[in-house]
Parts: sequence; C-alpha cells; structure tokens
Amino acid sequence: MIQKPKGTKDILPDEIGEWQYIEGKIKDIFENSGMKEIRVPVFEATELFSRGVGETTDVVQKEMYTFDDKGGRSITLRPEGTAGVVRSYIENGMGSLATPVKLWYEMPMYRYENVQKGRLREFRQFGTEVIGTQSYLADVEIIILGMEIFKELNIPNIKLTINSIGCPNCRAKYQEALREFIRPNLENYCDTCKTRFEKNPMRILDCKEQKCKKMNENAPAILDYLCDECKEHFENVKSLLNQMDIPYEIDARIVRGLDYYTKTVFEFISEDDGLTVLAGGRYDGLIKEIGGQDTPAVGFAMGMERLIEVFDRYNKEMSFEKNLDVYIANIGDKANIVATKIINDLRKNGIFAEKDICERSLKAQFKYADKKKARFVITIGDNEVLQNIAKIKNMTTGEERDIKLEVQDIINVVNSKN
Ligand code: ATP
Ligand code: MG
Repeated sequence: MIQKPKGTKDILPDEIGEWQYIEGKIKDIFENSGMKEIRVPVFEATELFSRGVGETTDVVQKEMYTFDDKGGRSITLRPEGTAGVVRSYIENGMGSLATPVKLWYEMPMYRYENVQKGRLREFRQFGTEVIGTQSYLADVEIIILGMEIFKELNIPNIKLTINSIGCPNCRAKYQEALREFIRPNLENYCDTCKTRFEKNPMRILDCKEQKCKKMNENAPAILDYLCDECKEHFENVKSLLNQMDIPYEIDARIVRGLDYYTKTVFEFISEDDGLTVLAGGRYDGLIKEIGGQDTPAVGFAMGMERLIEVFDRYNKEMSFEKNLDVYIANIGDKANIVATKIINDLRKNGIFAEKDICERSLKAQFKYADKKKARFVITIGDNEVLQNIAKIKNMTTGEERDIKLEVQDIINVVNSKN
C-alpha cells in the first residue's frame, strides 16, 4: 500500500472541525486588527529563499525541497511564508497602499527536517507581516495579537520570551566578540557550526546539538552590544509591554532560525513541553535584500500543528461535530423528488439536511441516519406525497409526530428546543 510521505499528516474529517474552529478564531483576531489575507505560491525561485532566509541557516543549508523544473529553473517549495509575501509585496507595488500594509496568511510549508515531535516536513503556519513601519509600536501590537490568540483559544502556560538581535551596525562588533569566545573551542563544535564560524557566527547560537549548546552557555550576549538606536527601540518595546502588564522574559539566546531578523525577536513557548509555538520579529533589511525599497517590517508565524497539540491539552471537552439536523428517508420516485426539493430548501435556510443518494432500502436509510446521529428523521412514501403530511421522528426522545411537508414547518420543528 502506498503511504503518506514521512513527516506529513492527513487532517481527517473528524479533526477538521477543530481546525476550522481555531482557524476561524485566529482569522477574526487578524482581520479585526486590520490585516488582510494574502496567498502566495507554494513554490518560488530558489534564490528567493537563499537570499531572503540566508545561506547559512538550517533552513537553506539542510531543509529545503529544491528541484529543477522541466525548464531548468531551480525551484523550492516554500519553507516559510515571509520571503514569498515580501516578494509579492514588491512585485505588486504594495508600497503605494496605505502604510503600514498589514497582511496575514495560513499556508503549508515544506522543510526536510528530522521528523520528531513538533517537527514535520509539511506543516501549516498562520502568520502576519506588518510592512512599512519601523516603530516599536508595531512590534508590540503583534506581540499583543499573539498573546490574544492563546487567550482566545483558552491555552495557558505560554511564556513570552523576547530579545533584540540588533542591526548590521551593532552586529559587526558582536560577531567579533562571539568569534573570540568560540575560537578556543572551535575544534569541539559540530561541523555545521565550524562552517558558520567565519560567515555567520550568530548561527552557532541557534545550533540544536547538545555539545554546541553547552559550549554556548556563557557566550557574550548581543544585548550588551546594541547601538543606541537598537537599544532605545528595545527599551521602548519592554516599557510598553510593562505598561500593558504583559509578562515576558528576556532570553539573550534567541537568535531565530532565519537570517532576516533585526532588532526585536520573540517566541511564545509552551511551558508544558518547551516547544516554541509562535515565533517572529522585526526584519528591516529583508525587503531591500530581495530587491525592494528599503522598508522596515515586523511579523510572526505560528505552527498550527503545534498550536493544536497544546490546544488539545486544555480543551478536551469541546466538541466540534456539526450535527445532522434532518434526514429524509424516502421510497419511490415521487417521494424522491419531494425529498430532493425539501432538502435543497432546508440547506438554503442553513439547516444541515441529507437524504438518500444511494437508492437504498428504507431500512438501510434509517441505519445511515442513525450512524450520522441525525436529530430528526422524516419518512416519505407515495402516501405522504399525496397527503402532503409525513411522520417526523425526534431521534433523541424517540417521539414521533405528523408534520406538513412544508419547509417552514420543518424548520420550526428543527429549531424548537428539541
Ligand atoms: P527551530 O529553531 O525550532 O527549528 P525555526 O526557527 O525553524 O524553529 P520558524 O521558522 O520561526 O522556526 O517557525 C515558526 C513556527 O513554525 C515554529 O515556532 C513552529 O511552531 C512552526 N514550525 C517550524 N518548523 C516546523 C516543523 N518542521 N514542523 C512543525 N512546525 C514547525
Ligand atoms: Mg527549524
């Protein structure tokens, strides 16, 4: 039997109600904040990600699904959303829209990862990008928005951690200090870290190998190297979070896995299992880097599979099943026509209604209605068509009564208490 590729997931019909509920909540939060949805291609030119995400990142070095198409172009399945969204922003001249341009997306992402808990090869991210403002106010606005998502979904034990990774100016000095710190031990770091030492030593701080993590413990912190502008920006972020009574921790070790970040970076971590559910930050250099005008921006992305995992822990008793309101069992051609019309009208009135489409016996139809947990079953044969009256059975109480075969009458029964 052919099985799904490693690291992918089927979202099954009995799970989808939960997904749609969560997606609806997040979408409302985004749209009420003035964000509009954007959808960009699943694949892009490879160069977009190598330039945007960064040559020395795990994503670009190890995790991309890259192939040549039949025209010989190097194509990559998007590993993250920001680069494509920013490409689209530039290509479609969104710089002329009201600023800031506030966008959100929900899109599948592809990364060739070591599959384990919380790490899939196809996963979905909900994200937002706020483009065109360098103000710390935008950083705080989206941090609050992230907070609201967890609150709205009744998910406790989420820790907000923040850091600033400065700008290219302060980073130059910091990288030198970091190299000095690492150099005496460089021999003992993993091969990937070694290759990053010259090009991008900050990446070494993001290494997932235990031995590298251990050696990094006393590394100098970028916060001690921030230039005045970056320092002020970070102070402003912290001060507004304090005034808004939003608890946070400063974690000097967050550097984030994508190179485009500047200044503020943040993560929302589930304290139950230590997994980062939502992560983001400011990326003032990216838009220019991939060919646009120098434009500041800030955003975050949230892994939906990880979000659903934590959501499940705290919302066990919630049900997302949509009940079948009415099933019409019918026998004979005339009854079928009447049932088809009624079903159609009920559906137009927002009632979840079904009838037989398998040409099965009445007995088999009742069995189906039972399996689908229909609240009401109406049974129609030639006689019922003639009299325009049929039996409607309340499947919860077992009570049966006559009903006129008029849509409004049926709606009244369905909408009555039981
Ligand atoms: P890490 O350092 O843990 O690999 P990252 O820097 O690669 O993280 P981002 O690219 O910022 O992570 O992704 C944002 C969010 O998307 C993560 O916090 C997580 O919730 C989700 N995510 C990232 N990679 C995966 C994956 N392979 N499977 C499932 N969810 C993921
Ligand atoms: Mg990663």
